[in-house]
Amino acid sequence: MENSTLTTLKKQVFIEHEKEGTYLTLPFSMPDDIEWITLTYNYAGFDEKETALENGSFVARQQINIIDLGLIAPDGSQVGASGSNKKEITISEVYATPGYKTCALLPGEWQIIVGAYKVAQGGVEVNFEINLSKKHRRLYKGDLHVHTLASDGVFTVEELMERARKLGLDFIAITDHNQMVSSDSFPQARDISVIPGIEYTHYLGHSNFLGVEKPYDDPFIANTLEEVRTRFNSAHERGALIGINHPFQEGCEFKFDLNKIPFHYLEVWNGPMRESNLKAIGLWQQLLTAGKKISICGGSDFHRDDIPFIFMGGPTTWVYAMSPSRKDVLAAIRAGHAFISYAPHGPLVEMTAGEAILGDSVDWTKEKELCIEADHLLKGDVLRMVTETESKILLEAPSDGKCKLSYTKESPGFARIEILRVLLPGIPRLPVLISNPIYFQR
Ligand SMILES: [Zn+2]
Ligand SMILES: [Zn+2]
Repeated sequence: MENSTLTTLKKQVFIEHEKEGTYLTLPFSMPDDIEWITLTYNYAGFDEKETALENGSFVARQQINIIDLGLIAPDGSQVGASGSNKKEITISEVYATPGYKTCALLPGEWQIIVGAYKVAQGGVEVNFEINLSKKHRRLYKGDLHVHTLASDGVFTVEELMERARKLGLDFIAITDHNQMVSSDSFPQARDISVIPGIEYTHYLGHSNFLGVEKPYDDPFIANTLEEVRTRFNSAHERGALIGINHPFQEGCEFKFDLNKIPFHYLEVWNGPMRESNLKAIGLWQQLLTAGKKISICGGSDFHRDDIPFIFMGGPTTWVYAMSPSRKDVLAAIRAGHAFISYAPHGPLVEMTAGEAILGDSVDWTKEKELCIEADHLLKGDVLRMVTETESKILLEAPSDGKCKLSYTKESPGFARIEILRVLLPGIPRLPVLISNPIYFQR
């Protein structure tokens, strides 16, 4: 944890004996963009003196002060309460100490509930320490397309989380066919964000609606384009991130006109790299060349263990997000701050043009230089730059490890990275990484 992102506030309150049996509140100010809060408190609970009895024994120390804890958000809602039982609590959008809600830490005046359950004759001083960690951009990885036994998968959400944890993933999206999920039913974990989703599955195409629990009013059935559009428009209005899944997968191609429905990203990489994914990348390249800005992501479409080459995290979507919360992860995907690699161990890429990262737009008249760093390469990997006019090999890795390169953008348009690898002897190199572009506008 980087210290520059951490702010510590100290608060103190003296409670007189007369206040015993009442609740006090202690305000503090929550700044913007806080990722997590940890609050600890201390007071003298026990009388320090032990009393000697005439027969030479001592009575146990008496608890003379008991102070309860709770927290109220700026809108007046109760975030949680823990009696006197917990001396430290943590809250974020991903995790909260039991007794408290996971929630966005909205800026404004928060109130600590100070419950004066028992207060000694002389009163008691209570000291609070509040640690606030500011959101900042980091790289997180996950899988945006997995099924549970609620549709045709075989694992529970909990089992998938355990698997994701072993793979080192930071987030997974649960995308069962035409099944709404309540995120209240997800087990809570400090280390994994579980994104509620649905794979809206129609005989003419599949789409992911991510991040909202009820993207449309059920049922899912729709027999006309107009009825299908109603579902998409509703998902869009309710704030879902909409992805077009495996557009060329044999048997479940996406047959609706992409110009007639709202969507945010193309799932150009579904499961193992193969012809249908290469076609999807080709479609995306055409759209980019036509001047569209479209984000991409990947998903394993993992259902169970007995399907060859399909495993969770194959592919892995990597996002530059402000926190691991589902909201920040989805915002990063929407913005194209992402790349896809074939497995949770990479490879990895970072590409910048000045301050701009993947998915951003820059003014080409002011910024033409790209800086590219790749890692977890294997000897022989080929790194190529793909633009609206060329596909240029920048490097064939001479050894395993990292590389750093630069590239000058000669015209407005876009620039994106692909890394290709020989995965099986005798078979041409296939992509093991695809990045979103940086866009260059005139
Ligand atoms: Zn599907
Ligand atoms: Zn699926």
